[in-house]
Amino acid sequence: MHKETLNFQTETKELLNLMIHSIYTHKEIFLRELISNASDALDKLKFKALTDQNILKNDNEFKIEIFINKEKNTITIKDNGIGMTHEEVVSNIGTIAKSGSREFTQALKEAKNNNNDLSVIGQFGVGFYSSFMVADKITLKTKSPDSDTGVKWVSTGEGSFTIEDTKQSHRGTEIILHLREEENKEDSNAEYLEEYKIKELIQKYSDYVRYPILLEVTKTIEDEETKEKVETVELEKINSQTPLWKKSKTKITEEEYNEFYQGKFHDWTDPLKTIHFKVEGNLDYAALLYIPSKTPMDFYSKEFEKGLQLYSKNVFIMEKCKELIPDHFRFIKGLVDSPDLSLNISREILQQNRQLAIIAKNLEKKIQKELEKMLESDRDEYIKFWNEFGINIKGGIYEEFGRYKDTLKNLLIFNTTKDDNMTTLMEYKDRMPEDQKHIYYVSGDNIKSLEKMPQLEGIKAKGWEVLYFTDKIDEFAIKSLGSFENLTFKSIHEANEELSSEDDKKMLDEVEKDNSDLFTKIKEALGDKVSKVRPTTRLKSSAVCLVSGTDGISFEMEKVMAEIPG
Ligand code: ADP
Ligand code: MG
Repeated sequence: MHKETLNFQTETKELLNLMIHSIYTHKEIFLRELISNASDALDKLKFKALTDQNILKNDNEFKIEIFINKEKNTITIKDNGIGMTHEEVVSNIGTIAKSGSREFTQALKEAKNNNNDLSVIGQFGVGFYSSFMVADKITLKTKSPDSDTGVKWVSTGEGSFTIEDTKQSHRGTEIILHLREEENKEDSNAEYLEEYKIKELIQKYSDYVRYPILLEVTKTIEDEETKEKVETVELEKINSQTPLWKKSKTKITEEEYNEFYQGKFHDWTDPLKTIHFKVEGNLDYAALLYIPSKTPMDFYSKEFEKGLQLYSKNVFIMEKCKELIPDHFRFIKGLVDSPDLSLNISREILQQNRQLAIIAKNLEKKIQKELEKMLESDRDEYIKFWNEFGINIKGGIYEEFGRYKDTLKNLLIFNTTKDDNMTTLMEYKDRMPEDQKHIYYVSGDNIKSLEKMPQLEGIKAKGWEVLYFTDKIDEFAIKSLGSFENLTFKSIHEANEELSSEDDKKMLDEVEKDNSDLFTKIKEALGDKVSKVRPTTRLKSSAVCLVSGTDGISFEMEKVMAEIPG
């Protein structure tokens, strides 16, 4: 049959080059990635078979098989999943879904500058390519139930691949890795040809996979008649097949949670926090949620989709169920498994599904509680979280018509004039001296420049604390919050009344009257740049300062508003 040679996209070429020359210390994860692809392929097949039993034919024992061949220096990973058509191989294997994005290009650059460190690349779903870390040639044979022919794809990872149709009749995918022979014995790929090593890797990374992973092992047995020792091969199941989230929490180590996260959610770094719980009763479900430790590179791009994986009765239903997570927790990765959800649930039905709405509400509460707990008991960890994702919490205060503001306000933390620690609004309130009636804030680009503001002098002299707002959305969030524990928020630029006593006011009036010529001249010189020039008692060591009008909009807010079109 006709054999074509095609070039990889430019970005894929670069990525492959990185993989081949990577000094990444976790090359072994290639096996996890291939097994996870096989498991995904079986998930897809199982889901499709719900509505079309015919596609299974007689091949309905779902499994993943692994073969080692020492003579040929190969490992083969085989599944009887959904397979791929010719077009699918070209588009799924020849290209990287997100390769065109700015974020991907950025990640490639970072990896290159960082000694070919691949940890930033993992989040882009490049699992298949990771095999080129250990293989110098990969052969992929596959057949989809939608196609009459099979497909064979071969590449050495250097610029191009060949693809041709084949007579393969059995459904599924087989990936044959020809291992690269390393000169350095320490870092030898040869160990991947050892049964014990492959067993170890499957147990470490893929134990929870819901399909049996069968390794072909060689056994020596005694022939019953001749009493001679003979070698036979048989398939041995290596994984326990219990989904991690169904195991009891006490039986799972942190490492297992982390390995599972990395393998499942396209991140090659450990999560900041794991949240795992099961609910039984009217509505049964298990949830395994993670807070990543770093903002995904595409988090602020249009392509980013929030959502959790959804499972029911051991069937994978969808990758990103967005109904399960409110926008302000969009950074959460994880999954939900509930036998109470109907399997042939469509996206449209999902939106009105009552059970799903209840689960979503519970998840929201649970995440909120976990964050509050972290804020309370591990401030350092919370600050790490805050630096990555805090902005979503602030946004959540005014999103959804302020539906969540009453709970989210407890998660806010700010830097203040007090010291370098970040504080919650409640802690701020508890520290307020009796004569302070408002929560004060000052907005600007960064704390360094805010600290030097002359306007702070009067207020600090009174022993009052001021919140630093350095995010553009801080003021919006606070305005939409309105008040906190009956205390209103006030920009320091609005704090005039409370900073001057009656005597001060009288004195200022006199100063203004006596010097009216001077003030008129200064005003004339500044023209439209200011609306009024007045004496003040607010300054302690500076000569002048600017204050904004009393309509409640601060300089910073004015700047933000000026940037909003329309
Ligand atoms: P990801 O798994 O994140 O999509 P990969 O690089 O691991 O990225 O795989 C790329 C794509 O190749 C998959 O999305 C899938 O469409 C296809 N693929 C890989 N392995 C298999 C397989 N064993 N069976 C069917 N399709 C596969
Ligand atoms: Mg994958």
